[in-house]
Amino acid sequence: MKFFAFLFIAMVFSSACYAQYNNFYAAEIDDVIFARIKGKSYKDDCTVPLSDLRYLHVMHIGFDGEPYEGELICNASIAADLLDIFQKLYEAGYQIEKIRLVDEYNADDEASMRDNNSSCFNFRFISHTTKVSKHGLGLAVDINTLYNPYIKTVDGKTHIEPATAGEYVDRTKDFPHKIDENDLCYKLFTLHGFEWGGNWKSVKDYQHFEK
Ligand SMILES: [Zn+2]
Repeated sequence: MKFFAFLFIAMVFSSACYAQYNNFYAAEIDDVIFARIKGKSYKDDCTVPLSDLRYLHVMHIGFDGEPYEGELICNASIAADLLDIFQKLYEAGYQIEKIRLVDEYNADDEASMRDNNSSCFNFRFISHTTKVSKHGLGLAVDINTLYNPYIKTVDGKTHIEPATAGEYVDRTKDFPHKIDENDLCYKLFTLHGFEWGGNWKSVKDYQHFEK
C-alpha cells in the first residue's frame, strides 16, 4: 500500500514538473475552451471554423519582473510563430503585463486595452463590410495595449484607443513599455513576417502586429 502511495505521489510530482517544463504549447479548441469564448470573442455570427483556431498557453514576465501564465487564441497558421516569439520574449525578460483571453473582458476591446491586456482573436467584420478583420481571423496580436495605443487623426481631431492612453500618444517621448523599431517585440514579430501597425501611414496602431 505504501508503495502505491509513493507511486501516486511520484506520478503527480512528475506530471507537475512536465507541466512546468512544457509551458509553451498550442491546443485545439476543446469544449472547455469553447465554453469560455462562445458568444464573446467567438460571436454567434463567427464565420471562422473552430478548427482554424488554436488555444495557446505561454509564460510572460510581468511588470513586477515575476513570471506569469498567459492565454491566447490565434489562427492555427501563426500558432508556431507566436509560441516562438513569446518564448523568446520570456527568455529575454521582456515585460508584458497581462496576456488574458479578451473573453475575460466580455470581448470588449476597449476594456481589455484600458487594462493593458495583450490579446489576439476577437471575431469582427471590418466596419460596413463583410470582410473579417485580422483580429477576427486570429491573425493579429496586440501587445501592452495601454502604452501602445491606436491613433487616428480625422480633420485635425485625434481619436485614441484606448481612450485612456493620452499620455502615450507622443511617440517622441521616452517611457517604459513603448514599442518602437528598437524594441525586441518589434524585432521578433517582423522577423516572423508580421507587419507592425506603427509603420502604417493613415492610422498608427503601435500595439498591433499582423500576418
Ligand atoms: Zn490590433
